[in-house]
Amino acid sequence: MDHSRSNALFETAKQFFPGGVNSPVRAFKSVGGNPLFMERGKGSKVWDADGNQYIDYCCSWGPLILGHANDKVLDLVDKTMRKGTSFGAPTELENQLAALILSNNPFIKKLRFVSSGTEAVMSAIRLARGFTKRNKILKFEGCYHGHVDALLVKAGSGLVTFGNSSSAGVPESVSAETITVPLNNKGAVVEAFTHFGDQIACVIIEPVPANNGLLLQSKEFLEFLRAICTQHKSLLIFDEVISGFRLGFTGAAGHFNIAPDIITYGKIIGGGFPVGAYGASEDIMNCVSPMGPVYQAGTLSGNPVAMAAGIAQLSECLKPGFYEGLEKNTTYLVHGIQNVNTFPLLKIFSLGSIFWLAFTNKENISQSEDIDPNSMTYFKTLYHALLEEGIYMGPSGYEVGFVSEAHSQNDLDQTISAFKNALKKLA
Ligand SMILES: *Cc1c(COP(=O)(O)O)cnc(C)c1O
Repeated sequence: MDHSRSNALFETAKQFFPGGVNSPVRAFKSVGGNPLFMERGKGSKVWDADGNQYIDYCCSWGPLILGHANDKVLDLVDKTMRKGTSFGAPTELENQLAALILSNNPFIKKLRFVSSGTEAVMSAIRLARGFTKRNKILKFEGCYHGHVDALLVKAGSGLVTFGNSSSAGVPESVSAETITVPLNNKGAVVEAFTHFGDQIACVIIEPVPANNGLLLQSKEFLEFLRAICTQHKSLLIFDEVISGFRLGFTGAAGHFNIAPDIITYGKIIGGGFPVGAYGASEDIMNCVSPMGPVYQAGTLSGNPVAMAAGIAQLSECLKPGFYEGLEKNTTYLVHGIQNVNTFPLLKIFSLGSIFWLAFTNKENISQSEDIDPNSMTYFKTLYHALLEEGIYMGPSGYEVGFVSEAHSQNDLDQTISAFKNALKKLA
């Protein structure tokens, strides 16, 4: 496969951007080699700058649940943008997207649109702090919540730890307000609440952690979090930027039937455009400005083009059988790969239309410390072998894959035989 044009574009990009990219994981650092520059996408396929075709399971890291350049999304975007791209004044499209979401989701009563998942989480944290008048937040090692200062905090040594920033530029005074505990560990959460219960504004979790492998949590653990938050008057935040509209229209909250206090959304909600949202009960949302004292704003928030894309995409998601179809196809793909798998360490974990290729002896992985960093060398080899076979995935073994509505039976069968060939290189 010729990658010369991608390579040349990357050399130029390195003069413009740190590491040649505008978001770090795109840089192929964890799989080696240079990133592919994409030229176009349609349905399940993408074409790189050298004209190579791939079946895409990155799907822009999750947003493209209908695949690339979906006609219904494009038509509504096209019609909308010709009437103006942004007004900084309200438009009816914001009402339409909100109504579509709220009338089909019993877990939130009001919401606020923002422009990214990070912004949604950042605002939700501020809202939780403003509502509870408390400062500390509790997060889980292995969950990603965007590049919010207070959440760029990693676990130290010990079960319940504070204040180890995972990024330069985050002041200790900020990370000192964040408590980090392992996933799937009730004891650690109890210990944190025993020491700091009356200071904890919120517990934030990806109910389906999918940014550090797919670290599936039990319903019982999430119910336990619900109960302990209620007991201590802390808010439970489900960060559903990936799982929202992915596991079903009501996301993980609906899948587990657990009501968090605040939910954050991103990715799918914008139909491939920059949209995020946070939602909660009226009581909590009415704390947000201009109604309440928690300030939050955005010049391009709720802009009509992004709203149109969201409306078109979510309308498709609401059609009967949509999620069942996605799940059926994902199961077909996962079983198909398992059937041709000749490499004993490769396991595929999946839920709904999310899947993760892990290299492990373990039957289950529910905590980040159960991921063996050395296993990433296998992923690296498999990754490049799959590219050669015409399969594109997110370039890191810690990232999950996504099946979209556009992936056809033929695509899935092709992918299974691509795996069969690629796995030979691992043996
Ligand atoms: C992607 C993601 C974010 C950040 O969203 P951006 O749009 O990249 O800012 C936050 N939380 C979760 C769970 C995510 O998957």
